[in-house]
Amino acid sequence: MQQYASFIRNVPDFPEKGIQFKDITTLIKDGELFAQVVDYMYNPFRHQQIDKIVAIEARGFIFGAALSYKLNCGFVPVRKPNKLPAETISETYGKEYGEDRIEIHKDAIQKGEKILIVDDLLATGGSAAACARLVERLGGEIVGFSFLIELTDLKGREKIGDYEIHSLITYPI
Ligand code: AMP
Repeated sequence: MQQYASFIRNVPDFPEKGIQFKDITTLIKDGELFAQVVDYMYNPFRHQQIDKIVAIEARGFIFGAALSYKLNCGFVPVRKPNKLPAETISETYGKEYGEDRIEIHKDAIQKGEKILIVDDLLATGGSAAACARLVERLGGEIVGFSFLIELTDLKGREKIGDYEIHSLITYPI
């Protein structure tokens, strides 16, 4: 899968000094490559019962929506503060660049529903772990996590904990 790394643009010092930003736009502007990586993200979960994908704003929506279509399941957006229009619950977390909060609609998940959490990239795991807390507070059961990219040195897997976690492309940082 590492061959896809050559299509991801590394942008040094964005959005802050010291961050090596992994820009996926250079990969997904190619229709075939986009379809291929979505298929690879889909594979580990294709035989699992999944009721809903919960994806994290903003780039998580790109892969989450495509995977929802492939898995024939619902899609739930987790968004930055004050973007969702109805009643929400929220979680705060620290990330590679600053602190943030994410929100989910209170009625987005029914108790016992099987949930796959999707984002473009796993760094420290702060946002994915916060997303997992939101899902579990609403009674969802997490089937696993799917990321296109994982920055392994940041040890996000450890922060997420004991769940099935898949990523396609890895970088140390
Ligand atoms: P974290 O919560 O630290 O795992 O950060 C993951 C979230 O922040 C994802 O939604 C990514 O889109 C974004 N992110 C963090 N670090 C990077 C990076 N180096 N390049 C691109 N996106 C990043």
